Order: sequence, then structure tokens, then C-alpha cells
Amino acid sequence: MQGKVAVITGGASGIGKRTVERFLEEGGRAVVADIQDAAGERLCETLGPAARFVHCDVTREEEVAAAVALAESSWGRLDLMFNNAGRPGVPDPIETMPTEGWDATMAVLVRSVMLGIKHAAPVMTRQGSGAIVNTASVAGLIPGSTATAYSVAKSAVIQLTKCAALELAGHGIRVNCICPGVIATPIFGRSAGLPTQLDAKVAEEASRNAAAMHPIGREGRAEDIAEGVLYLADDRAGFVTGIALTIDGGLAAGMTPAQRAALWAPL
Ligand code: NAD
Repeated sequence: MQGKVAVITGGASGIGKRTVERFLEEGGRAVVADIQDAAGERLCETLGPAARFVHCDVTREEEVAAAVALAESSWGRLDLMFNNAGRPGVPDPIETMPTEGWDATMAVLVRSVMLGIKHAAPVMTRQGSGAIVNTASVAGLIPGSTATAYSVAKSAVIQLTKCAALELAGHGIRVNCICPGVIATPIFGRSAGLPTQLDAKVAEEASRNAAAMHPIGREGRAEDIAEGVLYLADDRAGFVTGIALTIDGGLAAGMTPAQRAALWAPL
């Protein structure tokens, strides 16, 4: 990532935060764009001048545009746009779906990604190069794995990624997304080393359940996802565009014989 410049939305916590840290460890510089001002400022203070925080609500177009502009005015370029900010969607079934909740879920998880692509693309087009990575989810691959609104939103991110990859391929811009499995971050109200909203017992149970879901037998770590993002941002991935890179400990592949046996012994 030597000399590269990134904008990382949702960079103050979880997957985004770990990606910021890894990007800088590899020699890059990053704008951390998030609504958690205190956490974002603190992170950038720790990381030094190669990281700059900007308050950015990804549902607001002018704030997304300002985050991209900050990267360009600070360091003169933009090599990675990581559209990653997100939160759980409304949990309701369709029959009782609150319409505003549905719209808010789509705004934070889908419209945000479109806005990130929209504002990063002109800078990257001028350079003739750039990588855009969007955070989707295995929930976007497997219907019913999470609540409907979140699952539909993440599925839309995968399709948006492919459409954008085709639109921008001629400008030297690659667009890919990642599909994480269940990753230990504060999105579930818990995280190793970060303030937790759940008590330790619940956190431990959540961790055990996540481990049991993944054929690999452990919950995912933000680090696992950050490595995938760095790969997609790297020139070594120069022939990779329009893909959904699944990083999920085998979750989307299916069940191990042991998992199957635990559910239904006869087979
Ligand atoms: P996290 O809560 O640790 O981080 C999400 C960050 O996004 C937070 O810092 C939050 O402040 C920020 N954010 C939320 N709404 C925002 C907004 N409107 N504008 C700007 N920033 C906003 O959670 P995470 O697990 O690191 O989530 C990152 C992404 O990964 C999300 O898109 C999430 O849907 C996706 N994801 C997470 C998992 C998982 O198991 N943790 C699995 C699949 C996909």
C-alpha cells in the first residue's frame, strides 16, 4: 500500500478500523470517515499524520463528497475507496415492516455505497486507476441467514458492485466487494478489546454460536476481512473486478458432516 491513499467509511470501529490500521502499517494514508467522532479522532491521533478523521454520515451525499475531497486535498490522490460503514437493518418481517425503517436500512447500507462510488470515480478516472471495495455480507448470498431488510440490502451491494465494475472497467477502476461471515465487532454489541454493550456471559455465548456456525470452527476477526480488502486494493489484484470475495470460514459453502449430524443424525 506504499504511497496509496484511501477513504475508509465506518473506519472508527470493527472491520473499518482494522483495515485503516493495516493499510497504514503497509505504508498507506487514509481518511477515516465515520459518525463516531470521538472514536475516529482518537484512532487518528494514535496513528499520526498518515490518518485524518472526517465526520461523515454516509447517507448524506455532501458528506461523502467531502470525505473524498479531503483525501485529494491532503494527499493528491485516491487509490482505495472502501465503502464499509453499516449497521444492523430493521429486524421486522415484511408483514409488519415499518416503511421508514426499510428506507433507512437501504439508505445506510446501499445508497451509501452508490454515493461512495459516485464520488470516488471521477478522481480515479482522472488518475486512470483506483480500487473500490464495498462491504456486502454472506447475508447477501444466503436468504434467511439474517433479517430480510439487511439481507436484501447486502444482496443489492453485490449487484451494485458488479454493475459499477462494468461501468468503470474502461477507466482503470476495479470494483469488488467482500462478503464477511460472522465477525467479532461492536456491530453485535461486543468486541474483543472494545467497549461492549453486552455483559461478558452474553458475549461469550455469541462468540460460541458464531464459532459453531462457521465450518472452520471459530468466529471471524476484523483482521480476516482487512486482509481481503488489502488484497483487492493491491496491484496484484489488477485483473480482479466485479467479484464478491467471501471471507466466512466456509459458512456460505454449507455444513460440515459434523454440523449436519448435529442437526439430523440419520444422514
Ligand atoms: P462496527 O459497528 O464495528 O462498525 C461499523 C461502523 O460504521 C461504525 O464505526 C459506525 O459508526 C459506522 N457507521 C454506521 N452508520 C454510519 C453512517 N450513517 N455514516 C457513517 N458511518 C456509519 O461493525 P462492523 O462489523 O465493522 O461493520 C462494518 C461493515 O461490515 C458493515 O457494513 C456491516 O454490515 C458489515 N458486515 C459485518 C459483519 C459482522 O459479522 N460484523 C458481517 C457481514 C458484514
